[in-house]
Amino acid sequence: MSAYVNVNGVVTDAAHAVIPVYDHGFLYGEGVYEVFRTYRGKPFLFDRHQARLRASAARIGLEVPFSDEEVERRCLETMKAAGLGAAGEAYVRILLTRGVGEITYDPAACPFPSLVIIAKPLPPTPAGHYEHGIKVVMVEDIIRNHPESVSPLIKSNNLINNALGMQQAIRAGAAEAVFRNYRGELAECAQSNLFIVSKGVVKTPPLDAGLLAGITRAFTIEVGASIGIRCEETPLNDQDLFGADEAFFTSTTKEIVPIVQVDDRKIGDGMVGPITKKLLAQYRRQAEAMSTGRP
Ligand code: PLP
Repeated sequence: MSAYVNVNGVVTDAAHAVIPVYDHGFLYGEGVYEVFRTYRGKPFLFDRHQARLRASAARIGLEVPFSDEEVERRCLETMKAAGLGAAGEAYVRILLTRGVGEITYDPAACPFPSLVIIAKPLPPTPAGHYEHGIKVVMVEDIIRNHPESVSPLIKSNNLINNALGMQQAIRAGAAEAVFRNYRGELAECAQSNLFIVSKGVVKTPPLDAGLLAGITRAFTIEVGASIGIRCEETPLNDQDLFGADEAFFTSTTKEIVPIVQVDDRKIGDGMVGPITKKLLAQYRRQAEAMSTGRP
């Protein structure tokens, strides 16, 4: 099983998938994207991803001339070409760009957006990450995009801010990077949303702190509510994180990953906490139930 790519309706293996250099996604980073995964071969929370793709596109003034059914059809076709769905879980990235046109910012130069779908096996997260937790770094000298600049609510193909944060994490041997916002509050991680647990209450920064409305973030809050774990969306600062009993991050591909160290400081007792464990177990139970149709 390897990666297959659908470029404007044509499916090839990854090595043969090409896009013209005059595509404004390439020239200007003018595009939006989504990543979903499968459980039991079935796209998970697909309707939410479709809705967020449309919301992101609207925020950059990009019309989407494809129905949800058409996008889904292309995703399934690409997954099938890659041998995914039946045999193994899929990672699927949908990219929608302004399309091909002259070198100008005038949207009228690009009559057709480009729709690219990458389907590949879901990269496994090492089991140790869930069992023992991971280290993150605090991003230094760079803040998360200001909400009135390129809003983090847009799941934009323009990922330089995220990439710069991850460079710091990688240099420090950490799995994620925590961004502060322009007010100095905690915002989110470079590739995921941030949560802490304090005195039995789960807390995460509100959307107006400048962060992506993560689909896993929302699902985790719902999962928590279903088993009586309350989550508050509230501004958080460094001290809240350093003094937390537990911390974790959430993302589509990695679900809920415990954070046990921030820079050189331990979180709580440096072990994976009970509330994080409970949430992860229930998350997987619900994802499984929704994918098999068995409660
Ligand atoms: N925040 C950022 C910056 C991300 O890039 C991602 C995922 O790629 C997330 C949060 C998590 O979002 P989701 O749970 O929808 O995957």
